[in-house]
Amino acid sequence: MTDFSQFEFRNLPGFDQNNFDGFDQAIPMKTMVIYCFDPRASEIPKAVADYLGDEVYPGENKVDENGVRIGHTRTLFTLSNGGGRALQSLQSIATMDYLFHYKNVVIVHHSFCGMTSYTPELLIEKFHDHHHVDISGLWGHEDMAIEDYEKTIKHDIELLANSPLVPKHLNLYGFFYEINSGQLTEVVRVPAEERNA
Ligand SMILES: [Zn+2]
Repeated sequence: MTDFSQFEFRNLPGFDQNNFDGFDQAIPMKTMVIYCFDPRASEIPKAVADYLGDEVYPGENKVDENGVRIGHTRTLFTLSNGGGRALQSLQSIATMDYLFHYKNVVIVHHSFCGMTSYTPELLIEKFHDHHHVDISGLWGHEDMAIEDYEKTIKHDIELLANSPLVPKHLNLYGFFYEINSGQLTEVVRVPAEERNA
């Protein structure tokens, strides 16, 4: 059996977890983009990088003389889930703050998303019919479906703005993306200064 501990940063000679101050030298992360894992929406990170400007995406590996991957040039990280929703993203937003000193969190919802094909009530009812489980109280109904893009995008940004898991120095952006034209529309922006006011 392989000793997997050799692959852990904490065990590398010269790595001191108590004096760790981020992996920014290796990967200069600036922005996290949260979007739907629908394959038709896969161009979203590039569209956001172009919109924000001064971002590197997709970038490339930095490799040392031994072929070891010591970093990457990418500044814009991606996080996909069903709908590109804020609720499912909170843990990653919080833990990435430990690893990097990043600046922006971007939520993007896209046209003809599967999440717009049902209501929360229908999801709850069908889940109960099929699996005999009541999910109605397990998470917020606004986070179960997309019933109105503008409202849902604003809801997700508000959820981030009010969560203790989203540090106050992060700028928050909410966008709508049209999958056929590739057009990205900014719906809401909450700069860090506003969150700290
Ligand atoms: Zn979708």
